[in-house]
Amino acid sequence: MSPLPLIRPWNWRRALLWAALTVLLLVAQTLLVALTLRYEAARGQERVDQVAVEVAARLKQITDRDLQGLQGLLWDDPQLDQGPRWAQDASLLLRRTRPILRLEYRNAQRLVARSTDSPYVSPIYLQASREEMEIETQLACAAALRQGSQQFSRSYFIVLAGGEGLEVVDLCLPQLHTGQPPNFVVATLALRYLLEEAVAEDLAREAEFSFVESDGTRLARAGLTRGAGFYLAERLVDVSGLTLQLKVDSAAGQPKLIPNLTTALVLGLSLALFVLVYLLARDGRRRAFAEHALAEALAFRHAMENSLVTGLRARDMAGTITYVNPAFCSMVGFKAEELLGQAAPPYWPPEFVDSYRRRHMSRSARWNAGEDPRQGFETVFMRAGGERFPVLIFEAPLLDAQGQQTGWMSAVLDVSDQRRVEELSRQQQDRLQATARLATVGEMASLLSHELNQPLAAIASYSAASLNLLKLEAADPETPELVRQAITRIAEQAERAGRVIKSVHDFVRRRDQSRETIAVDQLIDAVLPLVRLQARKSGTRIELDLPQPMPRVRCDRTMVEQVLLNLTRNAIQAMDGDMPLDARVLTLRARQTAASWVSIAVLDRGPGISPEVAKQLYTPFFTTRAEGMGLGLSLCRTVIEQHGGALDFFSREDGPGTEFRFTLAAAASPAKPEAAQRLSTDDVAGEST
Ligand code: ADP
Repeated sequence: MSPLPLIRPWNWRRALLWAALTVLLLVAQTLLVALTLRYEAARGQERVDQVAVEVAARLKQITDRDLQGLQGLLWDDPQLDQGPRWAQDASLLLRRTRPILRLEYRNAQRLVARSTDSPYVSPIYLQASREEMEIETQLACAAALRQGSQQFSRSYFIVLAGGEGLEVVDLCLPQLHTGQPPNFVVATLALRYLLEEAVAEDLAREAEFSFVESDGTRLARAGLTRGAGFYLAERLVDVSGLTLQLKVDSAAGQPKLIPNLTTALVLGLSLALFVLVYLLARDGRRRAFAEHALAEALAFRHAMENSLVTGLRARDMAGTITYVNPAFCSMVGFKAEELLGQAAPPYWPPEFVDSYRRRHMSRSARWNAGEDPRQGFETVFMRAGGERFPVLIFEAPLLDAQGQQTGWMSAVLDVSDQRRVEELSRQQQDRLQATARLATVGEMASLLSHELNQPLAAIASYSAASLNLLKLEAADPETPELVRQAITRIAEQAERAGRVIKSVHDFVRRRDQSRETIAVDQLIDAVLPLVRLQARKSGTRIELDLPQPMPRVRCDRTMVEQVLLNLTRNAIQAMDGDMPLDARVLTLRARQTAASWVSIAVLDRGPGISPEVAKQLYTPFFTTRAEGMGLGLSLCRTVIEQHGGALDFFSREDGPGTEFRFTLAAAASPAKPEAAQRLSTDDVAGEST
């Protein structure tokens, strides 16, 4: 048996699948990381845009509120004895609105009539003089006059005390009174404070906010000192006519690979875990199905084994019993526990243990040599009570899933009933044969009486002659010698008559079949007197052709003698009729054909057997003779086959005639040569009477 290849073709396919799966996982993982990075970037940008929108809206709110406050101031006219009130309102407004640094009331010539500074910062025109910064204010007021509504100046930078500076814008609101030249309220707003107010505390920690000019010059800044420069939002904010460019620079920097990789890994692993759990669940379900199927198959196997009437037995390579089914246990009468693990099981009759062991070993050796010893063999087992019984065993090698032999599996059949039936049928056959023998004997009875008459008549005449001699004078000296000769003849004839009667007796007597070892010439000698009786009647010569050393056979003597009688009788009858007397020759021939076989043939010179007759020759009750029963040949064949031999017929090659030949098992050694080869012609006429 060849060992299994370590790498099967499907393993390569599996490896390829795993490689493809790994590549797919890597691609998926990379994509996941890239997508997460993009998503984070989009979120960051979205957030900064949203913050910019919020701050822009807040800026609008603040300027609207401030404008409203300033417009309230327009109602006060300090030139109409309302000076103190204006100052009061202006201070109030300045306290409320931090971005406004200074409020001025200007007359129609746009000269500062009154001014108030914010309480939150030191007055802005301590360092720098107001006149230097007038131009932008004047331009704004001129425009406000022209437009008839408030106007912002362009932004300009003022230096504060301490070297600090601020970018500011002036808002000029005209006070329009019908028929009079307008006065003006001018508010100076610090862009930085405006922005700081617009940026809520939480937003201030998120980004750097600045107002920039189109060339990028920063005008004011709030929030963080410095943004990360990655997420930027720029927005134009129009607050009551003042257009400012708001720039938001988020503190959040470029999305980092490592945290995203971790996220992606966690995600990927979770996904893989989910897939694994799913596969496991599916595998578990399949396993459950397979287990269920296996349990059913097992239950079916158990049911089948229990319902079997055939005994099953498994043995390992050492011959130890590994399994027995209930039928086997009930057959041998031992429990499974008493048998399992036994190398010499209790059902082996003690006298055969050694031979059974040897047989098992030789069967194993034959299997290893490549021979298939699967055919059945018959052996004897012993029941728990000690009773021996015949069993028929079919044994086959037990192979595991890899094809390796692990032991032997045997199916064991108890054939004791079968043997009993065979015995019964054999006995019936015997009885039938006995009936046939009786019929044959009946047929021969007349012949027998004739044959017996001859010796008896001879005996009678020798006796009478002896008596007469004894009555004669004793003077005759030859009398005792003559009487002795006559009595010798009487004894011979009596012995001959006795032999005839004994052979008939042996023939008719029905005996139980018993095998004995016997030399072939002894068999022939036993039937010869009767054969001679028949032969003499038809004038047939008998020839014996026997080998040397004389072969010995094992047989039931009486049965084989009966076969010989039947065949010789048929041969003699075949030569009856028109045949010339000198052509009637019956030959009895024996040969050792092989070491273990002996053949015995009966040859005649009769007309032979036609094909029509040949077809039915062995059919019981088939006969071509008016007085025949047609049982002879069928019985002969049965007897020979019971002995393990075969009965056949052939046309003679050396002339007309038929040869009936049967074989018998030879006994172990041929008989010791007792006499030279017998090749004789037994002439019937030569026999003394
Ligand atoms: P029976 O002798 O009662 O007829 P057998 O069974 O002995 O029954 O023989 C059957 C038939 O076979 C015979 O009737 C005969 O026709 C034929 N037969 C048997 N032996 C020979 C033989 N030696 N030569 C020719 N025919 C034979």
